[in-house]
Amino acid sequence: MVEESVVNRARELREQLNQYSYEYYVKDAPSVEDFVYDSLYQELVEIENKHPELVAEDSPTQRVGGPVLEGFKKVVHDVPLYSLNDVFNKEDITAFDQRVQKALGHQVTYTCELKIDGLSISLRYEDGKLVQGATRGDGSVGEDITENLKTVRSIPLKLKKSVTLEARGECYMPKRSFMRLNQQREEEGQDVFANPRNAAAGSLRQLDSKVTAKRNLSTFLYSVADTAPLDSSSQFDALQELEDLGFQTNQERRLCHSIDEVWDYIAEFQEKRTDLSYEIDGVVIKVNTFEQQEDLGYTVKAPRWAIAYKFPPEEAQTVVKDIEWTIGRTGVLTPTAVMDPVKVAGTTVSRASLHNDDYIQEKDIRINDKVVIYKAGDIIPEVSHVIFEERSDESEPYHAPENCPICGSHLVHLDEEVALRCINPKCPAQIKEGLNHFVSRNAMNIDGLGPRILNQMYEKGLVKDVADLYYLKQDDLLTLDKIKEKSANNILTAISESKGRSSDRLVFGLGIWHVGGKAAKILLEHFKTVHALKKASAEEINSLYTLGQTIADSVVTYFSKKEVHELLTKLEKAGVNFDYLGKTSSEMEKIESPFKDKTVVLTGKLNRYTRPEAKNQIEGLGGKVTGSVSQSTDIVVAGEDAGSKLSKAQELGVTVWNEDQMIEAFENSSV
Ligand code: AMP
Ligand code: ZN
Repeated sequence: MVEESVVNRARELREQLNQYSYEYYVKDAPSVEDFVYDSLYQELVEIENKHPELVAEDSPTQRVGGPVLEGFKKVVHDVPLYSLNDVFNKEDITAFDQRVQKALGHQVTYTCELKIDGLSISLRYEDGKLVQGATRGDGSVGEDITENLKTVRSIPLKLKKSVTLEARGECYMPKRSFMRLNQQREEEGQDVFANPRNAAAGSLRQLDSKVTAKRNLSTFLYSVADTAPLDSSSQFDALQELEDLGFQTNQERRLCHSIDEVWDYIAEFQEKRTDLSYEIDGVVIKVNTFEQQEDLGYTVKAPRWAIAYKFPPEEAQTVVKDIEWTIGRTGVLTPTAVMDPVKVAGTTVSRASLHNDDYIQEKDIRINDKVVIYKAGDIIPEVSHVIFEERSDESEPYHAPENCPICGSHLVHLDEEVALRCINPKCPAQIKEGLNHFVSRNAMNIDGLGPRILNQMYEKGLVKDVADLYYLKQDDLLTLDKIKEKSANNILTAISESKGRSSDRLVFGLGIWHVGGKAAKILLEHFKTVHALKKASAEEINSLYTLGQTIADSVVTYFSKKEVHELLTKLEKAGVNFDYLGKTSSEMEKIESPFKDKTVVLTGKLNRYTRPEAKNQIEGLGGKVTGSVSQSTDIVVAGEDAGSKLSKAQELGVTVWNEDQMIEAFENSSV
């Protein structure tokens, strides 16, 4: 028998953690710092490890993924998941409204919702507990993906009321997660996903739910299979009821009393579309009351009481002038199409990543081809396809380079990789990229060392690896273009200051494959010093929550190299800190900053900072950065072309700063 106090503590931790997680993932308004969550989570893991019988179904530890499946079981949907009839213009919507009015004999109110571009899912709850999650499949038979859906943080494992119901909605990948995932896959030489929807689909159909757990999926629920268990009698109220039960619902819904109001809603979101953090492909218009919905009924395929307005695709045509290959710090070569500038979805586009040679060959893209381009995730320009009819007879298939455009060494495909890699460790392009990465804001954050200067330093032989930076003298710097005594001293001070950074930044900066900023932090939080990390075994690393085998192997391989040992010795001799200095609570107290204890939302395009950099900086100053504007937001930093979040901030009277004001606040902060 487990002691009662332990049983109670486990329950208390579960409830507390689930509440924090709800605030974070559903409400987007976390009430505690990450480290508070992490330490409670760790405590629960320890209790559950000691007493496996205490692992409850709704424990947050059940979200990291379970054993690998052999296949998915089929799920029969007792109430089918319907599809929607699509319309593309105002006339069709008006016609829909007229049909509805004719059938019912009077005017009706509609609920307008955004059409989220993800995957339909169905979640079955019994007495408030999640018992099954399924895909839509063909509408009547889907697949059982319960294990995968449990890893999606915004899906409640337990509802706030003990009801039995089947909730339906959309599972999607936010644009930012999509971009990060593709960037990472490109760097790692893997295939990229064409759009967030494919990425979400690929993530949900993983037989290994641990993979799904890392994919940052989210959800919006919008209906139930059977409305009987609900108190509500209309779609609009049902959305609120779903929200009250603990589901994430989309906040942009609106009740519209006429087709003109519906049309205004559509026009508004066609504008705001690119500002949203998730992709939408249209608007869904639903007759509001359930009674009227029942009266209207269904056709074989779709309800008669709802319709989907699809946005026109935002595409453009242009000509591919050239294909450029650039090389990253891990040696992966990435092709970019250089095109005649053309406007698409609000901006002028002249370059688009072609990801890898397979991609080029599959689409058969050639120089001088006329192509159709669009924006994936509403942001990233992509080549959709070639307009073959317009290809000239002289056109020839494109061949990828066989040798590194920089060092000339023969390019290779590593096991199962689609990417071409330069594996020459002395390749100047890779070394330069590595230097740029080392000094970047989230790594060692050395001001004043841009790519131009680093390039010169390398070319002049002043810096051959990252450790050489710490041995630079003023005289060395004075040999560089446009560097006078004052700027030389500034650079030397910045380099010297960076020696004291926490070692997770150093480890991130070293550019070990697969080790991003977050992984570096988890590693150093655990091992405390680079020396201990250097000696860690793959098993030890793999056992850390969320890291996994790939990272573990990569770290061990990296630290087994002789050159790495030499590099570390050189860094340590120069006085670079090897210890983890993550902020303790007393350090948090010392912070003085306009961002301290403030909830901040970033929106629009920043020029001097990337979003992650600004977020990092604000968090370092004791602020909290969240994704959406609400009553609890203190400051909205609005860059160029800020959209709906800015208007919302103005509506709510939240303080709005531009990028300069944010930078000024950084300068007025001390830690
Ligand atoms: P389609 O796939 O074009 O037939 O459109 C129907 C699909 O739109 C549904 O199966 C849902 O997956 C999706 N959808 C996205 N957002 C909504 C929403 N707010 N209400 C209803 N369906 C939605
Ligand atoms: Zn090379």
